[in-house]
Amino acid sequence: MNCRDTNLLINAYADGELDAARTLELEQHVQSCAECKCAWENIRALKKSLKQDALYFAAPADLRQRIKASLPSPAKRISTRAAWSWNWLTTAFSGAFAVCLALLLTMTIPHGQENRLADEIVSEHIRSMMANHVMDVVSTDQHTVKPWFNGKVDFSPPVRDLAAQDFPLVGGRLDYLNGRNVAALIFQHHKHIINLFIWPSKQTSSQPAALPSRQGFHLVHWSDGDMIYWAVSDLNETELMDFAHAFNTASH
Ligand SMILES: [Zn+2]
Repeated sequence: MNCRDTNLLINAYADGELDAARTLELEQHVQSCAECKCAWENIRALKKSLKQDALYFAAPADLRQRIKASLPSPAKRISTRAAWSWNWLTTAFSGAFAVCLALLLTMTIPHGQENRLADEIVSEHIRSMMANHVMDVVSTDQHTVKPWFNGKVDFSPPVRDLAAQDFPLVGGRLDYLNGRNVAALIFQHHKHIINLFIWPSKQTSSQPAALPSRQGFHLVHWSDGDMIYWAVSDLNETELMDFAHAFNTASH
């Protein structure tokens, strides 16, 4: 990244809108360039001063009085009877609320785990690209890639070459995710790399489903009853879904 790029991206950086790779490049440039470092310090100082209390004004007391006076007078006191039924209603509603809360919790807890896993998968994908460590075994031959995993993981990942569907297999890698060793298969689609993470799971079979993109990467996951699959790439969602369906179809 040069000074011109930095200049263009620094405000997006200040607002936390850059993806991980760009953030890293920009930070590296700012650290090594006095001019851009100075520009960054200025933006930071401006952001800080904008947050200070001196810029907030409290409304004067007479303005408050005038607004109050212009409002309609408060409703008459609620009768005892109305208050009683109101109490009854609140009780009923708080009961319903507790039920809703319990439902929401049971629904969001697995969801939270899935989100954490999705974040971890995107980080692994980025790390594999940045560290130039996409592949441990470089081969377009599934009969070379599959046995390579023997003895490295305690399961036999299904390896498919999808060259005919325009997603050629390019290699494999051993990775660590979700607290265990997993197999990563690497596929290519034009200039884009797809990491497909595989590990055994007793989860019920599910069709490929896309998750909201994060940091500009798309995620699709599914299960075939024995294995769980997570595909991640900078490919657009439609093409990544095509890939997932192609892999899933080739496995059956
Ligand atoms: Zn610079």
